[in-house]
Amino acid sequence: MSRREHITVMGGGLVGCLMSLYLGKKGYKVDLYERKPDLRKAYKEYGRSINLALSDRGWKALNGIGIGDEIRKVAIPMYGRMIHDLQGKLSFQPYGKEGQAIYSVSRGGLNIALLDLVEAEHNITLHFSKQCERVDLKTNEVHLRDTATGEESVIHADRLFGVDGAYSMVRYSMQKTERFDFSQCYLNYGYKELTIKPGPFGRWLLEKEALHIWPRGNFMMIALPNLNGSFTCTLFYPYEGHESFANLKTESDVKRFFKKQFPDAMPLMPNLVEEFFKNPVGDLVTIRCFPWAFQDKVLLLGDASHGIVPFYGQGMNAGFEDCTVFNDLLNEHTGDWHTIFDKFQKIRKPDTDAMADLAIYNFIEMRDKVADARFLLQKKIESK
Ligand code: FAD
Repeated sequence: MSRREHITVMGGGLVGCLMSLYLGKKGYKVDLYERKPDLRKAYKEYGRSINLALSDRGWKALNGIGIGDEIRKVAIPMYGRMIHDLQGKLSFQPYGKEGQAIYSVSRGGLNIALLDLVEAEHNITLHFSKQCERVDLKTNEVHLRDTATGEESVIHADRLFGVDGAYSMVRYSMQKTERFDFSQCYLNYGYKELTIKPGPFGRWLLEKEALHIWPRGNFMMIALPNLNGSFTCTLFYPYEGHESFANLKTESDVKRFFKKQFPDAMPLMPNLVEEFFKNPVGDLVTIRCFPWAFQDKVLLLGDASHGIVPFYGQGMNAGFEDCTVFNDLLNEHTGDWHTIFDKFQKIRKPDTDAMADLAIYNFIEMRDKVADARFLLQKKIESK
């Protein structure tokens, strides 16, 4: 087996970068293509801080290439849920035993840290502003378009990893093959990201080491801490109906809604109205498909193969776990790509399907049951 075998990774998001690092460090020659420009140059322009919860699955994969400790330095532990009721009264529910936590990390910061490592790895070449338009599975030719110049090109991939997210073009090409199962299911909920400002001297105005939840029955807001003292809030709210984004049209609609539903958070959100109308409403989709492999040539990983809704905080973590599992199989069956791809999809599919179900279930728990006294009592009894 030649370690100089050429691997093409499509998608330079969180999972694509981590997978490239695993492959590059093993000696494979990797070309990583990303449709957006270099995030490290554009990051400041985004201006918004968006964070993710990193848990054990994710840490294991980061530790696997020796970067867990680096990332831990910029991660904030969240030891439990802090529930905010309608009067602003707080109650804390620990996630586990003392010291157990999930961690808030900046999505952009983590992607940048991974891109820096990718760039430093001499086996990996980065190509930005290159969008996959389609894959010819007969010849394994990938058709690319330069998103800056519009120029089109074709590359040949010995092995292609489709890590291009929930709306994967690599998967789209596979969807036209025989007996390919595919479903995408949207919730009738969207999400909007908003900000709780830092206090004087960058102090956190809410408890720093907690994931904050404002459960309101059929909707909720959550907030995760950032290093600069701010919190990124995410409002999950229906698209349609009496209580919905469709009915928050004016400044006074928004102010009235927040004053009623989130009275303790609203005074900490001085740019609420501006952000509310500027920031988009995002979709919440579950993607399932099978197979994830086309012969021994193409493999889907991350959201491209298993996109889940964010309520279990496990989408990225599951994508990172893909890298751990893939790496173990690569060690066991080096060079036998057919076996590696086949075993990978058979091991991961049931696990990620279970996570997709749990993620939807957890939405009901977070928005509704965490505030329900009977549910809390039952949890207490269960944990004994
Ligand atoms: P992506 O992050 O989508 O990356 C795909 C990359 O491919 C992107 O860089 C994209 O630009 C590029 N790309 C796309 N199409 C093409 C193309 N045609 N050609 C070339 N490049 C392309 N997960 C957690 O674990 N914890 C959380 O707390 C959490 N919170 C979330 C909150 C929200 C609101 C949402 C929406 C998701 C959350 N997730 C969370 C899920 C997490 O964001 C995803 O699971 C994760 O980003 C998947 O990584 P990925 O690399 O597979 O895909």
